Amino acid sequence: MKSYLSHLECTHCGRVAPANQLQNVCSACGKILYPRYDLEGVKKVLSREDIALRPANMWRYYELMPVINPENVVTLGEGMTPLIEAKRLGKSLGCSNLMIKEEGLNPTGTFKARGLSVAVSKAKELGVRDMVMPSAGNAGSALAAYAAKAGMRAHVFLPDDIPEMNKLECIAYQAQCCYVQGNIADAGRAAEENSRGKDWFSVSTLKEPYRVEGKKTMGIEIVEQLGWSMPDAIIYPTGGGTGILGMWKAFDELEQLGWIGEKRPKMICVQSTGCAPIVKAFNEGSKFAEPWPDAQTIATGLKVPSPFADYLILGVISDSKGTAIAVTDTEIIEAVQEIAHLEGILVCPEGAATLAGLKHLLAQGFLNCTERIVLFNTGSGLKYPELVSV
Ligand SMILES: *Cc1c(COP(=O)(O)O)cnc(C)c1O
Ligand SMILES: [Zn+2]
Repeated sequence: MKSYLSHLECTHCGRVAPANQLQNVCSACGKILYPRYDLEGVKKVLSREDIALRPANMWRYYELMPVINPENVVTLGEGMTPLIEAKRLGKSLGCSNLMIKEEGLNPTGTFKARGLSVAVSKAKELGVRDMVMPSAGNAGSALAAYAAKAGMRAHVFLPDDIPEMNKLECIAYQAQCCYVQGNIADAGRAAEENSRGKDWFSVSTLKEPYRVEGKKTMGIEIVEQLGWSMPDAIIYPTGGGTGILGMWKAFDELEQLGWIGEKRPKMICVQSTGCAPIVKAFNEGSKFAEPWPDAQTIATGLKVPSPFADYLILGVISDSKGTAIAVTDTEIIEAVQEIAHLEGILVCPEGAATLAGLKHLLAQGFLNCTERIVLFNTGSGLKYPELVSV
């Protein structure tokens, strides 16, 4: 197996950068870099049937992944999570084709594992020893775990009000944890200040080009699990937006490979009413999101007041004819209980938000009950005992 990574390309100004050296953002405009592949090359050597024979983890898509030497792959078995038919939940809503992509089964209990597995692997390949990131919790846990697996060092900057379990995980994996008063933006500033003069490589969301490649595999998996066909809608709890962007990138690459056609799912962002910069920008028809003041929600993964990828997320929503919707913390807690008792899945609050969003979209008629709808449960509810005491 061989990676067909060819170069990095800026998502904003188109500037090309080499893939074989450390890069964060575009050196010309400071925006997000995407890895690009020689897809014509992949087409010649790889078929959908070949993939079916490979191990059930996200590295089965190796040709479309950015690690050149397979020995640099740092893996804990992430990916190829089940796409579960939610029959009882679907029935209660009148939906005949409702599914849950169950990301809670990943290492460290969330889909952050996918992105950090790739970022840590690539950093290792490029000679990095120390990695730094601000995190609302789960990304920090995943970075800490993969750094431990790789024998590398992680420096994680965390808002001090994050869920207890995230702190305990970081400590267990022996990351260097720094608690910061304030939100993820404050943690980001602290990370930057403390990195100055040190050779710590930043793996902050989308300020590093490879985490999105891990999230991309969620899109490939859904399509593979549906027999190389598309759902009609994907409802995704959006914080920094890596997941929605990664899946969209996957669909483009799969179409260029000729493995799927032009059809795309409606990409639907769910946020919290306590922090909804993307929903607000979408409703106002804006191409950029303004920072959300005083962000508050129990869904810490959605507490991203100023997503760096705002222009890309809003582009995907509009290109896919999707939408964006905000739900309350009360709706989120109700949805946690509903999914638990109807489906036997203890979802994280972010995952529950997708069900709350779905209810609104059915009521509005934006989605109808025969469509193939995928809800994303981005993490395991087992990480949030304080939310399941009911
Ligand atoms: C990070 C996180 C999110 C938001 O993910 P993005 O891809 O950055 O938008 C959602 N749910 C959970 C559990 C998370 O940890
Ligand atoms: Zn640029």
